[in-house]
Amino acid sequence: MLGALEAPVVMVGTDPVEVDRRLRGGELCCPCGGGLSPWGHARQRVVRGAGMLRPRRARCGSCLVTHVLLAVSCLLRRADAAEVIGAALTAKAAGRGHRPIAARLGRPVSTVRGWLRVFARNAERVRAVLTALLAQLDPLTGSTPVRGSVFADAVEAVGACAAAARRRLGVVGAVSPWQLAAAVTSGRLLAAAGPSW
Ligand SMILES: [Zn+2]
Repeated sequence: MLGALEAPVVMVGTDPVEVDRRLRGGELCCPCGGGLSPWGHARQRVVRGAGMLRPRRARCGSCLVTHVLLAVSCLLRRADAAEVIGAALTAKAAGRGHRPIAARLGRPVSTVRGWLRVFARNAERVRAVLTALLAQLDPLTGSTPVRGSVFADAVEAVGACAAAARRRLGVVGAVSPWQLAAAVTSGRLLAAAGPSW
């Protein structure tokens, strides 16, 4: 599903009013460092577990690239919230199969199997990125425990990063471990082409 039409994404908070205020106030930056300004909206869609969303678009004044401002409650091109998908990944890391996970979350078996399969493909890179973030957040943490599979190690790194962020920054407010993971991977935890950063 990824391709040339893929819009670059900038991850933002979950409160659209706050996002709008920051965007209009010139507080949001393009990855190139340029300032972003409002540029209409992306298509409205329902994200199960996160509600009806109509992401903002923003254009960079330096590189002129138009970005979609994706809330950290979402993953790129997924119809379920980061939290819901994260719950499935956590359950899988704990040894559960895709059928019971799907039943518990009330999602189709094929959908859940798809999440698990793509995350397994991306797990090594996800683990690498989150481990690097963990070292920045808490240089004294040391390495995260090894769980015996890259999949489980990546899930472990998500939790460890969130815990380190809480220690380092105080309470992280409403940002959950999986929202943090969505933010640092630009929503590409389950991107078919793998996270690119
Ligand atoms: Zn730019």
